[in-house]
Amino acid sequence: MPNLSNHTLSALDLAHIWHPCTQMKDHEDFPIVPIKSAKGVYLYDFDGSSYIDCISSWWVNLFGHCNAAINAAITNQLNELEHILLAGFSHKPIIDLSQRLCALLPRPLNKCFYADNGSSAIEIALKMSFHYHHNLHRKSPPRSKFLALSNAYHGETIGALSVGDLGLYKHTYAPILLSCLSVPVPNVFDGTKGASLHAPAELEDESYYERELHALESILSRYGEEICAFILEPLVQCAGNMHIYPKAFIKKACELCRSYGILIIFDEIAVGFGRSGSMFALEQCRITPDFLCLSKGITGGYLPLSVVITSDEIYQAFYAPYESGKAFLHSHSYTGNALACAAANAVLDIFATQNIIEQNRALSRAIFALWQELEELNIVKNLRHCGMIFAFEIDSSTPRAGVEIFRAALAKGLLLRPLGHTIYFMPPYIITIEEARFVVQTLKEILQAHFA
Ligand SMILES: *Cc1c(COP(=O)(O)O)cnc(C)c1O
Repeated sequence: MPNLSNHTLSALDLAHIWHPCTQMKDHEDFPIVPIKSAKGVYLYDFDGSSYIDCISSWWVNLFGHCNAAINAAITNQLNELEHILLAGFSHKPIIDLSQRLCALLPRPLNKCFYADNGSSAIEIALKMSFHYHHNLHRKSPPRSKFLALSNAYHGETIGALSVGDLGLYKHTYAPILLSCLSVPVPNVFDGTKGASLHAPAELEDESYYERELHALESILSRYGEEICAFILEPLVQCAGNMHIYPKAFIKKACELCRSYGILIIFDEIAVGFGRSGSMFALEQCRITPDFLCLSKGITGGYLPLSVVITSDEIYQAFYAPYESGKAFLHSHSYTGNALACAAANAVLDIFATQNIIEQNRALSRAIFALWQELEELNIVKNLRHCGMIFAFEIDSSTPRAGVEIFRAALAKGLLLRPLGHTIYFMPPYIITIEEARFVVQTLKEILQAHFA
């Protein structure tokens, strides 16, 4: 073997790996970073440099890398059973996990359908909502449209892309997507450029979303009977530039949809498991969806797993003799993997025993106090936070300012990965206030050096 350095590994990498969400040509002049090991919030490369993981490895890591308790849970499970198909078979970790997830959720959410990534969970919720109407009403023409918010992101498989609204990911594929209607999402930063949002509660005034509710009413009066489900990311549209929007709008919009018999899908793939400030965002929205999609943080960032949780009422619409053709015949090979479920149970143990949601409240306040120090920079606007998500936009005409910040941050020991001009901080919950202070201070230096 050659001596393993960042340089040798990144050259070997490029020989055979096509990376996700990447223009590979960018790597002609900027190398891939091979990571050798990680502990807590720190990542270590092959040249001995360390980086603070400011984005929880694409929003999945909750309790740090190489967490002792999660490691132990996976190791124990590995010595018992690694995987078994979930059709006709089951295992203890998934039985425990399902019971525990349902106990954490409002009553009607009582049945768990598993998959192995977020986009697949979205596909399942879309298919199930369509199929539910089909099984119950066999209406012709069927309810074959979906309704989603502008600026939404729900994943990148064809169905998930169809209900998303980010041109960057979607535009090229428009001719092959499903039929989807779009409701404008309230944009509270409209007209108040530079304002900062200190508490999501500041958004609840009806003037922030009246216009959008009217737009929804007119869509529903025209298409209400053709729509099978309304899908949304409650509280924060994460890939949509960490856009925080009013929960009162969510409740009213969902109630309006329900009055037309439209099912509600909450995509909590990013905001679930404490990220929004409560265990699940639905608690703050005070509405229970018909389908709740979870993934990302579910295994603490260890292994691929996702779940769609629905009600007995939906489940019963599929429950019939085999010959009826009503069964939901959807599956993935690694659905409900036992190692992933063991990791998920370890994550729920940490939530249950360490008072995480309460502690995050204090941590979120303390980090936001640091974050607000950035406001004194002229290029920082729309400073905001929700739970353990902190964000702002940079007011710069540099087309790829985010990429510049990403590169400068790496050189200073931070893994920050802006979304366009949106800089965000979404750390593992175990980050200390000293580490957060270092992150904010370093970010400030970068912004001063590059955009002064
Ligand atoms: C990440 C994400 C998805 C897609 O999940 P994958 O596991 O990446 O397929 C869907 N919805 C939201 C809100 C997400 O953040």
